Amino acid sequence: MLTVNFHWVIFMKQISSTINSLSMLEHFYTCPYCWEEISALLDPSISNQTYIEDCEVCCNPIELQVIFDREELIGFEARDIEQ
Ligand SMILES: [Zn+2]
Repeated sequence: MLTVNFHWVIFMKQISSTINSLSMLEHFYTCPYCWEEISALLDPSISNQTYIEDCEVCCNPIELQVIFDREELIGFEARDIEQ
């Protein structure tokens, strides 16, 4: 049990250092299902991206469209995928 916990700590440290080195942008948006505020980590190096992310509150799939212009966020849309 102690060994498992030890490996888990190392794994989490690797994740956080990766996020820092990529300079991810944290962005807050409202879930289209439950209207809770969700935080998303966006990658400014990709100018136009669309992907599905599960809401961390109600677990419904949200389609996110993110547009960057020279690493500046110029467009963000969160919509439900059932329309
Ligand atoms: Zn939700």
